[in-house]
Amino acid sequence: MRANNARNSSRDSIDRPPSKRCCDCELTKQSSEFYSTTTTADGLASTCVMCTKRRVIEYNEKHPEHNRLYRQSHPELNIAAINRRRARKVAAGGTLTANDIASIRKRCGGRCTYCGKPAKPLHMDHIVALDNGGSNDKSNITVACGNCNQRKHARPVWDFLAELVGIKPEEMRAIL
Ligand SMILES: [Zn+2]
Ligand SMILES: [Zn+2]
Repeated sequence: MRANNARNSSRDSIDRPPSKRCCDCELTKQSSEFYSTTTTADGLASTCVMCTKRRVIEYNEKHPEHNRLYRQSHPELNIAAINRRRARKVAAGGTLTANDIASIRKRCGGRCTYCGKPAKPLHMDHIVALDNGGSNDKSNITVACGNCNQRKHARPVWDFLAELVGIKPEEMRAIL
């Protein structure tokens, strides 16, 4: 993780290895079974295509409310978001308790929600950024490593996940 900043510069001159070990299923697979990405040293996503899709689907099942398409088909959620945004202007403090934070940390098992890597320290991350109408409620808070936290910033979570696994946002929508 420490080397990430230095890695990003050489996106055009990456030598992709013929095969790679998926850090999720831990199987060594042909490089064609990994998405290309500009965010790793070897130019390949850290998890294989199958694991990536599975993780996206699992994430989607756990957090359907964070899926843009789901939100579009449930306009009441957007109204709720608008109301939360108004409320936030009044009191951005939210309702997160120390207990909530402890249980979020426990749930993640010391790993970043997005890249899945063990990380210390883990930052509290608003899955839907406050600027995008996300709430300060525990359902909208997860943990992220410093790198993911910074890279995701206020972007829609699905756009960030698409970038993370090295696919285009349109391809992400096709998976969902
Ligand atoms: Zn895998
Ligand atoms: Zn991360």
